[in-house]
Amino acid sequence: MIKPDAVADGNTGPIIQQIEKAGFKILAMTKLKMTPEQAGQFYAVHNERPFYQSLCDYMSQSEIIPMILEKENAVEDFRALIGATNPAQAAEGTIRRLFAKSIEANAIHGSDSNENAAIEGAFFFPGV
Ligand code: ADP
Ligand code: MG
Repeated sequence: MIKPDAVADGNTGPIIQQIEKAGFKILAMTKLKMTPEQAGQFYAVHNERPFYQSLCDYMSQSEIIPMILEKENAVEDFRALIGATNPAQAAEGTIRRLFAKSIEANAIHGSDSNENAAIEGAFFFPGV
């Protein structure tokens, strides 16, 4: 998912180019704005964290671009492509290092397991 900061900054094109160059196939893609309730549901696993409310506000502030991506070893390879949560700690050349503004507004989301990829994919693309 390309997050609100990156979409608003006009970084969609270079980010998608980097994803495709890394060998990912885009199976589904759309653009939408989440309600704060949807953002809260998407990040429900973090609901006890101090940054939860701010995260939900940020994630529902403007449009996002969710995608379903396909590749061998997709979860691990995509996490490597996007880099660490905190862009200050993200490796050179990673999407977060290049495009993130802060640890919260960090440009892009990647699922952390095959199980969560299925859940998160169905969240935005029911039936795909
Ligand atoms: P990741 O997105 O790398 O899997 P997490 O699952 O830990 O990271 O956190 C989910 C999202 O919550 C992050 O991508 C970021 O937008 C936000 N976030 C994480 N940690 C913080 C923090 N310490 N302060 C503010 N926002 C945070
Ligand atoms: Mg996570």
